[in-house]
Amino acid sequence: MQCDVPAVAGPPVGTYPVNEIFESLQGEASFTGTPSVFVRLQGCPVGCPWCDTKHTWQVIPEREISVGAMGEKTEQPCDSYAWCDVPTLANIVRAADAEHVVITGGEPCMYDLRPLIAKLEAWHHRVQVETSGTYVPLVTPSTFVTVSPKYAMSGGRPVLDEALARANEIKHPVGKQREINIVLEKLDPIHQARGTPIWLQPLSLSSRATGICIQAAHRYGWRVSLQTHKFINIR
Ligand code: SF4
Repeated sequence: MQCDVPAVAGPPVGTYPVNEIFESLQGEASFTGTPSVFVRLQGCPVGCPWCDTKHTWQVIPEREISVGAMGEKTEQPCDSYAWCDVPTLANIVRAADAEHVVITGGEPCMYDLRPLIAKLEAWHHRVQVETSGTYVPLVTPSTFVTVSPKYAMSGGRPVLDEALARANEIKHPVGKQREINIVLEKLDPIHQARGTPIWLQPLSLSSRATGICIQAAHRYGWRVSLQTHKFINIR
């Protein structure tokens, strides 16, 4: 399946724009090593400069494809997407082996995820949502919410207290010491008050960033997330 697929018409009412669905291991934070179905939604206005899924930022009408074409996508990053309604999406997920479902993006919390998650949970899936914290997560009470807060990005969206309060875990990328200072100032109070785990994720797994993370984890009682999928060369 190549990226230059023909566009098809289709109204997006009550549906989600899906970039891709694939199975892998969750490589980060609390669910590291867990077989998972990843549902990547299209659309994100946050604008992180290091984003490795920039192809998901725009929902361009001309890039709409059929559900079948989306399901045949290869691993090549591609900005095409298919509008999927809840039954269609849930059925695709159900056909996979994994019980754990990760809804990611893009920024999945741009959308009201409750209908989709409720359906998946009714079929005994556990659902994790990965979000930037710039939207209030519209999820079910059982949803595991991973907030990776993105401060002062070009999209100008603030990180919301409501999103941080809903987090089951907080994950923060770290490249330099200044990110540790941000975690200490803005996120550690939540860790202290609510016991929400804080995971530090070294950017690009560089030895310098990893060293900063390990030192801070020891000092402040946080944890280090190492993107283990990259060590074994899987998605
Ligand atoms: S929030 Fe996520 S998808 Fe959006 S720009 Fe940042 S890293 Fe990329």
